[in-house]
Amino acid sequence: MSNTRAARQEVIVKHPDAYQIKVPLPFPLRWVNAYVLGGPTGWTIIDPGLRTAEAEKVWQAVFGELGLEPKRIERIVLTHHHPDHYGLAGWMQELADAPVLLSRTGLEQVKLLWGAGTPLTDQLLALFLRHGLPDELTAPMREHMDGFVPAVSPQPEVTVMEDGEDIPLGGRVYRAIHTPGHAAGHLCFYRAETKVMFCGDHVLPQISPNVSYLTERIDANPLDSYLSSLEEMSRYEVNFAYPGHREPFSRFAERTGELIAHHEERLEAMASLLAEPQTAYEVCQSMFGDRLSLHQLRFALAETLAHLIWLQEAGRLSAEEEQGVIRFAKKSG
Ligand SMILES: [Zn+2]
Ligand SMILES: [Zn+2]
Repeated sequence: MSNTRAARQEVIVKHPDAYQIKVPLPFPLRWVNAYVLGGPTGWTIIDPGLRTAEAEKVWQAVFGELGLEPKRIERIVLTHHHPDHYGLAGWMQELADAPVLLSRTGLEQVKLLWGAGTPLTDQLLALFLRHGLPDELTAPMREHMDGFVPAVSPQPEVTVMEDGEDIPLGGRVYRAIHTPGHAAGHLCFYRAETKVMFCGDHVLPQISPNVSYLTERIDANPLDSYLSSLEEMSRYEVNFAYPGHREPFSRFAERTGELIAHHEERLEAMASLLAEPQTAYEVCQSMFGDRLSLHQLRFALAETLAHLIWLQEAGRLSAEEEQGVIRFAKKSG
């Protein structure tokens, strides 16, 4: 058997509710899960992946393997706007001539991140500088962020989905549930009859989804949003969950509890570092080390900020700005 065939077999995994497609990523995460659901009138694709030449090749192979004629794709549904999920949506829309569904807030994020003038990039860099990012890292960080534009191009024409809307996925109807925190406007898709959840990056097995503070305009307290929507999700009865990364899993409620506990521990660890005032960048280095790639640093710094702002909002930290740099410290008493 050829290597290509062996590799291809690993890429497609058949589950009771969908085909799981492992679409390659050039990051340590290695792959993002797209899902393909068949129905009597055509196919639904969930989260097609990041646009790279390799990912396109994988999809062409998958179309062949599943006998999936792209024109028979009737909709492309996105759990959230992050490039590893959204990136190929425009490319696939061109092949399929099908609607791309994303939440209203997700569409706003797309415009801020990759719309005309990429307005969020400047705001994010200014935010990171105020929180202690060294000056010499701003130019490479900007380059890194601009580097995502080709990986999300062409941009699709988006049809907006609302929280609570019934969305057909293949031949079955699922309920869209707003689950902000990992991404503003994130949606999970639940079918009560079968207790099946497509949970995007909101709940992942083994790894803790990133929670980033990305300016007040996007979410003034993203960790609070995340913990609240995790708690809401823990009340759903779920037999099987299909996540955006790693493998589908069954212990959904337990996993939401573990993620809440993980963040509570991290909050305590960060608070304990702040007997003396420190910038978010300094706290980030203590928590995540000083040998991160630019990509990792961006997520680690924004994640540190999400926790520090949660602590500040809870009245446990003060924040003082001096010469344009913000330092957090534990409130006494
Ligand atoms: Zn994501
Ligand atoms: Zn992801």
